[in-house]
Amino acid sequence: MAQVRLYVDHPLGAEQSVPLTRDQAHYLFGVMRLDTGATVTLFNGRDGAWAATAVRQGKRDGRLVCTEQTAPLALPPDLWLLFAPIKKARTDFIVEKAVELGAARILPVQTEFTNAERIRRDRLQAHATEAAEQCGATYVPEVAELQRLPALLSCWPEDRGLLFCDEARAGAAPFDLGQRLRPGPWAILIGPEGGFSDAERARITALDTAEPISLGPRILRADTAAVAALTLWQAALGDWR
Ligand code: SAH
Repeated sequence: MAQVRLYVDHPLGAEQSVPLTRDQAHYLFGVMRLDTGATVTLFNGRDGAWAATAVRQGKRDGRLVCTEQTAPLALPPDLWLLFAPIKKARTDFIVEKAVELGAARILPVQTEFTNAERIRRDRLQAHATEAAEQCGATYVPEVAELQRLPALLSCWPEDRGLLFCDEARAGAAPFDLGQRLRPGPWAILIGPEGGFSDAERARITALDTAEPISLGPRILRADTAAVAALTLWQAALGDWR
């Protein structure tokens, strides 16, 4: 059986004792049916992955003790994913895939044609944590609060490239991302189902670090576009090389 991996907000180290929250105890002992003596893998986004043994089992709590480090901390490349939230299931999908594909930060943005007025940040963060547990990561990307796109662009870090996925360029000549993009911090921007307005397009491309790209000749759904863009960037500049 695959080893259970659990994210904990607690320091990890040799012989470190780690208390379980109610949800974690329920998951390990109730859902996964583990007993005292079972070994699981813990990570906290700082100390790498650790093997830990269950030493106390309760219905609502429990305790593990770390034995040895099994993997060092591996941070994803400095890549943010900015996307306009869409329907719930598709938004969940985008967050999950962003974690699996190796984004460092996930920033939901409200654009002119975004339907969602609010997001459940805590729920999306829980999805990100679950995806990290499942895919073997030792780091959980932060899911930021929903921000308006103009506010985000007005204080855009001058060293961060912005890979602007623009549906108006569908079918524009393809190019070699690796040739064109400089190494360094980047963000990918994906619009909502309604796409970007002309005013937004102008505002985005006015940024010095914006790099508009086409994702091929067809119009992709936002969730597909997010996966495609993350893949392209990872292959060109990220940790897939
Ligand atoms: N309603 C729009 C499509 C929006 S698709 C229209 O019909 O024109 C949702 C988002 O996915 C877009 O805002 C863009 O960020 C991205 N996207 C989809 N297809 C793309 C393509 N071929 N090239 C670049 N970006 C694309």
